[in-house]
Amino acid sequence: MKLSKLAVLCCFAASGAWAAGPHWEYEGHHGPAHWGEMSKDFEVCGLGKHQSPIDIRKAEMKADLPELAFDYAASPLKIINNGHTVQVNIDAGGGVKIGDHVYRLVQFHFHTPSEERIKGKPADMVAHLVHKDDAGKLAVVAVLIKKGKENAALKPVFDNMPIGAGPVHGVEGLSINAADLLPAKHGYYHFEGSLTTPPCSEGVRWYVLSTPVEASADQIKAFQKIHKHNARPVQPLNDRSVVERAG
Ligand SMILES: [Zn+2]
Repeated sequence: MKLSKLAVLCCFAASGAWAAGPHWEYEGHHGPAHWGEMSKDFEVCGLGKHQSPIDIRKAEMKADLPELAFDYAASPLKIINNGHTVQVNIDAGGGVKIGDHVYRLVQFHFHTPSEERIKGKPADMVAHLVHKDDAGKLAVVAVLIKKGKENAALKPVFDNMPIGAGPVHGVEGLSINAADLLPAKHGYYHFEGSLTTPPCSEGVRWYVLSTPVEASADQIKAFQKIHKHNARPVQPLNDRSVVERAG
């Protein structure tokens, strides 16, 4: 008991990762190829057959897929650099209705480059908007971000990113409305997948918006200064299929 506690403490301090559990990274001995071996709790990272992210190469256009009925609201800005990403925690920021399911927005965070690929190509970044329904089921809406003009909605977040890993901190007087992060069109690719970080739990519903938004080169660089590369490699599709709603 003592030893394992020590081991966790050692790596925690060395990496600055602000998270419990075994220490994992995006490269080297603690990188994605080894996540599944690092802990019994992370086993599905190696053994799972419905893992995320994926490369969306083929999608079946379907007319009867539900729209993403976003109903976001402003929420006080609370940011954490957890050592793996910069994350904004949402207390009461509304959610999204998909068919009969109502999901509440819990947090959003970023990866660079985007974890998901479309026809083999990643975007410069992606924002993952993580939602939960009353039964605890997760739905993630991915908004791809490509280099272009400055993103005003991201400005309060990117101007207040904690450089080092640490606890959540509130930014006095600032609020964020996730609606401002969305592109004008809400067409999407949908598939069943997983968390893209350990423990890689499956049963996550993914909605990757087909229209990207833009952020300036400086904004992307500002994030990459903190997290140079935090994208899990794409995972095999196996028996899954991807469906697409136009928009
Ligand atoms: Zn993510």
